[in-house]
Amino acid sequence: MAIIQVFKGLPLSPYPYESWMEHWHMKSDQWVIWCAEAHCKRVALVASLVKILEEGNDHVYVVPLCKGHAVSDHAISIGGVKPVRVK
Ligand SMILES: [Zn+2]
Repeated sequence: MAIIQVFKGLPLSPYPYESWMEHWHMKSDQWVIWCAEAHCKRVALVASLVKILEEGNDHVYVVPLCKGHAVSDHAISIGGVKPVRVK
């Protein structure tokens, strides 16, 4: 279980993929339908760039979130979904 926050930094390109959702599907070994937030019951429609809120971790990751959590400014607790590292 990790705590994440939606990444607000400079825009990154998903190249060579068409989208962050495609990046997620190509790199993750999980098949995720529901939002990664631990208790959210909505469908994950957006693959969002996030940071993991832990000391010394400055990497950017992608996780599937619902449209609501994808624009949240708050820390989000994720359940069993493993974030895929982007950079
Ligand atoms: Zn959600």
